[in-house]
Amino acid sequence: MTASAETTSAQPVAESARERVPRSSSTSPSRSVGSAASTAKQAPSTFVHISEQPFTLANWHQHINWLNVVLIIIIPAAGCTAAVFTPLQPKTALLAFVYYILTGLSITAGYHRLWSHRAYSARLPLRILLAAFGGGAVEGSIRWWSAGHRVHHRFTDTDRDPYSARKGLLYSHMGWMVLKHNPKKSARGRVDITDLNADPVVRWQHKNYIAVLVTMAFLFPMAVAGLGWGDWKGGLVWAGIVRLTVVHHATFCVNSLAHWLGDQPFDDRRSPRDHFLTAIVTFGEGYHNFHHEFPSDYRNALKWYQYDPTKWVIWALKHVGLAYDLKTFSQNAIEQGLVQQKQKKLDKWRARLNWGVPLEQLPVMEFEEFQEQAKTRALVLIAGVVHDVANFIEQHPGGKALIQSGIGKDATAVFNGGVYDHSNAAHNLLATMRVGVIHGGMEVEVWKMAQRENKDSTLKSDSNNASIVRAGAQATRIQAPVQGAGAA
Ligand SMILES: [Zn+2]
Ligand SMILES: [Zn+2]
Repeated sequence: MTASAETTSAQPVAESARERVPRSSSTSPSRSVGSAASTAKQAPSTFVHISEQPFTLANWHQHINWLNVVLIIIIPAAGCTAAVFTPLQPKTALLAFVYYILTGLSITAGYHRLWSHRAYSARLPLRILLAAFGGGAVEGSIRWWSAGHRVHHRFTDTDRDPYSARKGLLYSHMGWMVLKHNPKKSARGRVDITDLNADPVVRWQHKNYIAVLVTMAFLFPMAVAGLGWGDWKGGLVWAGIVRLTVVHHATFCVNSLAHWLGDQPFDDRRSPRDHFLTAIVTFGEGYHNFHHEFPSDYRNALKWYQYDPTKWVIWALKHVGLAYDLKTFSQNAIEQGLVQQKQKKLDKWRARLNWGVPLEQLPVMEFEEFQEQAKTRALVLIAGVVHDVANFIEQHPGGKALIQSGIGKDATAVFNGGVYDHSNAAHNLLATMRVGVIHGGMEVEVWKMAQRENKDSTLKSDSNNASIVRAGAQATRIQAPVQGAGAA
């Protein structure tokens, strides 16, 4: 939550030596050379960080980041309780609402899209305002927040993700801030924050964070309501603490709800999702599947009718000259992502269906062999492929007699328009009855040759290497029926 000035650890609150417990007796500098050598080997494992130890009745309180508990649980709970006994004046209500918008948007447009992702550039006055109001949201300094968020994007859903959705909804919402973490396991050192360190506003806010927090979260709204209309207590309780509680949970939802609720139109390998409900709660950060694919795009929602007030505000700030260099990914790149994900879903759907045994896996038989077997089995030859229609005779829409008349014969022409030009669905159904191919059957040779010579430009297989049969493209559909060589 809050940042102590000089740390970049996973948790802003210093995790001091007293939180570590010795695994073995500590080494003494006055030991003999021999024993020093033997203890040197043990030195790295002398201390086990509290987060690596199991919860017990004796140590549970050491697992808790108490400063964060005070800031995100105790103060909000106390403020909401006080609100019951604090009448809400209309002007204070308006102030609380406006301040909710200002501090919330400073997190989404400032901390998130400006500083974490560099999705646009901002002039100095705007950066100062975003740093000040963002400080009033009590979510840590820009530097701490943005570094953690870069880790989240880089290691989404893994153990290194500070708010991994795989650790549960409550964990990604608040639990990650309530528990202590081993700074040695933090991936914060793996993300580049030189740009953040180069921004004097970021440096100043980080250094003076506690003062910024107290002033902007509590004193400022209290002073506005107090000096403005004499409602000091209402200003602190409603525009300060209750407002702060709502901003907290609204923005925490980006880490929890946006990784849990909704669709995945761009990539479903990881947890981020798109949902308008999340967008409504989070000032437009709900199109999170898009955001994780295109993080440096200043937009989260692409369509004009989708709710993304953060995008609208950045766009408006550009038109008053406070923001510039707004970044967007190309429509081509965005649509490529959409097409690939749709294709993946289609492939999965296709894989669940029965398309018949692939032609190349069918046994090859001579025409005479086919005729011989057809005396005891209901085999029909169509376009070089042998089908066992025994279970279909009764259901044949064209009648029993017609299908029976094809048994033991080459029914290619009959099936392809000679008697009845069968539908695409009929060809699909027929494919599920395949049992073999005729040796030297001309069509089979043609397919094989086309595949060998790679002449067939249409997509042959999907991403799972399953063959794709386009509508009207079953092997049994012959435009100009050709008699198999051995079928004359
Ligand atoms: Zn995320
Ligand atoms: Zn992000």
